[in-house]
Amino acid sequence: MGQLVTALDGTVVEANEALASMMGASRPEELVGFQPWRLLLREYVDQLAELTHELITGGVDHFEFEPRVRRLDGELRWFHVTATLIREPDGTPRSFLALVQDTTERRTAEERLSHLANIVESTSDLVGSADLRTGRLIYLNRAARELFGVGEKEVPRVHLLRIYTRDALHVWEHEIAPHLRAGRSWTGELPMRTAEGRVIQVLQTVTGEVDPDGTPVRSWSVGRDITERKLREEQLAHRALHDELTGLPNRALLLDRLEQALARSRRSGDPVAVLFLDLDRFKNVNDEYGHAAGDDLLAAVAHRLRSVVRPSDTVARLGGDEFVVVCEAVDETKALDLAQRLLATLEDEPFRVARNRLRVTASIGVATAVDPTSTHPEALLRDADAAMYRAKDLGRARIERFDDELRRKTLRRTKLADDLRSAVERGEIVPYYQPIVDIRSGEITGVEALARWQHPTRGLLTPGEFMEVAEETGLIVGLGVSILTRACDQLRRWQVEFGSRALKVHVNLSARQLAHRSLPTLVETAAENALVEPELLCLEITESVIMEDAERSVEVCHSLKRLGVELAVDDFGTGYSSLAYLKRLPVDVLKIDKAFVEDLTPDSRDSSVAMAIISLAHTLGLRCVAEGVENVEQLTALRGLECDEAQGFLIARPLPAEQLTPLLGKPLF
Ligand code: C2E
Ligand code: CA
Ligand code: CA
Repeated sequence: MGQLVTALDGTVVEANEALASMMGASRPEELVGFQPWRLLLREYVDQLAELTHELITGGVDHFEFEPRVRRLDGELRWFHVTATLIREPDGTPRSFLALVQDTTERRTAEERLSHLANIVESTSDLVGSADLRTGRLIYLNRAARELFGVGEKEVPRVHLLRIYTRDALHVWEHEIAPHLRAGRSWTGELPMRTAEGRVIQVLQTVTGEVDPDGTPVRSWSVGRDITERKLREEQLAHRALHDELTGLPNRALLLDRLEQALARSRRSGDPVAVLFLDLDRFKNVNDEYGHAAGDDLLAAVAHRLRSVVRPSDTVARLGGDEFVVVCEAVDETKALDLAQRLLATLEDEPFRVARNRLRVTASIGVATAVDPTSTHPEALLRDADAAMYRAKDLGRARIERFDDELRRKTLRRTKLADDLRSAVERGEIVPYYQPIVDIRSGEITGVEALARWQHPTRGLLTPGEFMEVAEETGLIVGLGVSILTRACDQLRRWQVEFGSRALKVHVNLSARQLAHRSLPTLVETAAENALVEPELLCLEITESVIMEDAERSVEVCHSLKRLGVELAVDDFGTGYSSLAYLKRLPVDVLKIDKAFVEDLTPDSRDSSVAMAIISLAHTLGLRCVAEGVENVEQLTALRGLECDEAQGFLIARPLPAEQLTPLLGKPLF
């Protein structure tokens, strides 16, 4: 403690060692004769003058004063000064005695603390402290007091039970306390109760103070209300796993549930059944009553399906009008029973949709996991799907189960898909060419490229044996590009050989190819690379593929047409063409399906359909090609009906390029 005696004018008379070092002087004598008030920062000088005046005039007998001081060495410090007046025996003031303490350390610590206290008090996070021996609160910051409805003064009386739920206290006891005892902090979610009694989830970190024998005596928690965030996350997760229209699980969740079911089945030995349900002719509902009605119907169907199954069963919607039910501990017999009940719930009572009463039937495929160890969720789903397809094939509104026959068929298809993949890579798929001739002159006007698979062991395969799988697997896209490229190259070779610029090459396009974004680019590149004029390329699309999505087809056809290629409607007469769309389609050729050519005889009794198609083509300004001409009678009849061109076994079968070459350049009849 520094001590100092000054004269009434403040000049130092005497000082001790402690004071000297506090002031930054080397010896107390250095201070004698000095006026320490000169070291005060300006704002304290007047204050000091006032205080000493009061002391001298007798208003007080001492004063305390805590100024900021610049020491002799220039450093700024806080001093706490207690001063008294020393009087002569007769009472006249003689000198001041001052006790001085350097309070700098204490003051900065205090400042820092009050700064921290301010932050803690004003943060939007929830901060609190509790006495763990009494279970009562010690402190809650403002955010917490407001959220939990606790007044500032009330805090020490509040028990933890008022702000934490029982579940949370259980966690305190069994999880948090052991952590604190081990000297660690704990972070996690705890349910808490707000002033209005609402339960919220608070993500918090709890730290503690322990007494010397390791018992937690006091805790500190810092947390944040994450109820909203969790809710949003849950909604997002729900949306990612559910179908929006029906609220049923979607494919992803279905596969997940199925996987879990199979895992349980592996342990328990109980079978798992999958029912694949597809509504019959649902497309008609959309077409006739509109998509909104279709959606209503799907939602209503979902509701009925749900009402038939057990709560533990999963009903999912895969998209479109496809639903899947997964049941655990259900063997095939029970699964077939359930399928019956599902059909019944749909068929027994018509649906009321868009002020109509709709009768709905469905086709169901049933597959049960016999040996869960070797069953993948996807495989089981595929089996049920295959069974459903057989139900459709056998006339709809029925139930089929996945049996050995389907199993063999599925295996064959899987193998075929694998083989086809490598066949496309190895270039085993090649085009054969069938001539198309002018009916009047017999001259070859073009050739149609038809895909053939030169199978290493099975010999030459026709599209009937692999197209469906190519289309299903998407391999058709690569296959199609290869046929297109080869056909263009071959046309170029014939052009060079015969100098003929009139020969056209026809190439078929499937639904998958048509849906492919880069189709126009692929076509353009193939023609360009082969140096073939696009006008000599005719792309054939079947009528049914065009009409599947007529709006889109019109669009795609226009983008192809812009390249300069010709377009043909293939298998015309088999689909349900709408004349309105046909008019909007930028096509050049109609190909009469061979079914109508088959009926043809020269006396034109059975030729009304062919006649109608030919005159329709001509009315629309299109060329008409008859396919599947197998005999002279048919050819004669077509000539009589003024069909433009013909194609068929009568004229030539599809041939490899080198066998066709000799036929080019001369009339075929
Ligand atoms: P399509 O386009 O209607 O082809 C005509 C089909 O009729 C060919 O069958 C052809 O061989 C056959 N044919 C030709 N003349 C006669 C005849 O006088 N009588 C009979 N009964 N049939 C005849 P193929 O080659 O088996 O092709 C079947 C279908 O496969 C084709 O029908 C076409 O839709 C599709 N296809 C063929 N090649 C390709 C291709 O490269 N890409 C695509 N996407 N589809 C192709
Ligand atoms: Ca064709
Ligand atoms: Ca055809």
